Amino acid sequence: MKRKNLRSMLAGMLLLPTLFMACKRTPGGEFQPAPDKNKSGLQNFTPSAYDLNVVYFVPSDGDTIAHYRERLNGILLQGQRFYSKWMNYYGYGNRSFGLRLDSAGKVKISVVKGALPKTSYLYDGGGYIVIDELNTWFAAHPADKHSEHTLVIMPASTYAFDGDPGGVPFYGVGRWCFALDYAEMDTSYLGQNTTLGNRATKWIGGLMHELGHGLNLRHNKEKVSEAADPAKGTALMGSGNYTYGKSPTFLTAASAAILNNSQVFRTSTATGIYEEGNTTINIIKASYTGGNIVLKVKFSSTQTVNNVNVYNDPEGGSNYDAVPWVAAPSGDSIQLSMPISEFHKKTGNYTLRILFLYTNGSSTEISYPYTFVNNEPVLDISKDELNKSSWSIAYVSSQEDDGPAINLLDNDQETIWHTQWKSVQPAHPHTVIVNMGAIQSIQGLAFQQRFNLNGSLKDISVFTSTDNITYTPRGNYTLANVNGKQYISFGATVSARYIKIVTASNYADSHYAVLSELGAW
Ligand code: ZN
Repeated sequence: MKRKNLRSMLAGMLLLPTLFMACKRTPGGEFQPAPDKNKSGLQNFTPSAYDLNVVYFVPSDGDTIAHYRERLNGILLQGQRFYSKWMNYYGYGNRSFGLRLDSAGKVKISVVKGALPKTSYLYDGGGYIVIDELNTWFAAHPADKHSEHTLVIMPASTYAFDGDPGGVPFYGVGRWCFALDYAEMDTSYLGQNTTLGNRATKWIGGLMHELGHGLNLRHNKEKVSEAADPAKGTALMGSGNYTYGKSPTFLTAASAAILNNSQVFRTSTATGIYEEGNTTINIIKASYTGGNIVLKVKFSSTQTVNNVNVYNDPEGGSNYDAVPWVAAPSGDSIQLSMPISEFHKKTGNYTLRILFLYTNGSSTEISYPYTFVNNEPVLDISKDELNKSSWSIAYVSSQEDDGPAINLLDNDQETIWHTQWKSVQPAHPHTVIVNMGAIQSIQGLAFQQRFNLNGSLKDISVFTSTDNITYTPRGNYTLANVNGKQYISFGATVSARYIKIVTASNYADSHYAVLSELGAW
């Protein structure tokens, strides 16, 4: 169970459709901070070694909105205190994201005029156009780039009949995040039960939520006990954008563990920030005892892991409702006890997402499926598999030259079986038959999707045979879209030498089949 950096954290979006869900994490490099420094307004914090870039991006036919410097200064300093409060709370010290100040002692905001009119920077797709222009702008203005994290604020380009602003990008994309500005966006309205008060929560809270994405955060939800705790309430990276400034809103321990490694929370410079790492899970054990999911993981990693976030993510609802725990590793192991009384939902399918956090700010996610049955979790997360060293491929209907079916048997998640896609693109069903070399007693099969989950295999039928002539159907299954090992059970012990898999679909709704490992238990 492996490997590599999951670069597609579904951080992303807040209010609207899911086209941009790709908060793609692009690899970063080393960053040399600019020599100038002015932290005089932030003496309450341990000074950061890197600062957030704050850009006010104005379309060619637009303008800044009155008093934006004062209003955004107040919003960002308040947000900085909010983040610091929770870093302190979880024991990470008096730290927050760094902000550069200008000569007037206010948060430095770079105003950049766009090349295009408002109609070119729409919510859908506009973010990428802005990022392209700002990458060019930063290359020409290196002294204005203080880190790899950038908050882009754009004046609203449309207003609803009731005055509600909108129209511009509003989401996180990797270490970029987008928020909007409108004339009454001011902290002074926060907490007022008025149209402008509620609007301030929505858009200032929204800015803080999107900024969270831009600082590396992913969605998560408060535990049941946290929701009931008047000091905590709603997780900012859940639906806290609707409660910020109005009712208790907080950062989860899992969010703080991520921020602890974020570049702009660093108090000293470092090299190798955001270089990718690989983690392999060598042993995983999960059980349900005494009302708790008890998880034990032994891993090896190419980077230094200082925390491991474990998210329990119910099917549906994207990842907004994933309830997280944090485990500090002891050597190369973690152990966690997660009371299901803290879960909001005790039915249906879940994904267990194990996120290894590296001190350099990068991370790797390895995920496993589990299911609630009769309000209790069933955790078939590990099985003793048969040794595959003498196995072979008896038949394959399609394989690409760099994705031969034999890769299913090499215990290496990095190598995959991939049906043809280059010169020809045959459609499902695809068939592969594995010869176990001798008749074996098996209860089910083991599968592992390719690590990056690109086009994961979904619906399959399974058959077994002792002679490769007469096949017995063993059922239709839907594989989970997770990159850890997963198992299917025949519900009985079966004698078989040949295993036949017939594919019906993949998660990309595309013609091909791809799979990393196939085994039996
Ligand atoms: Zn979000």
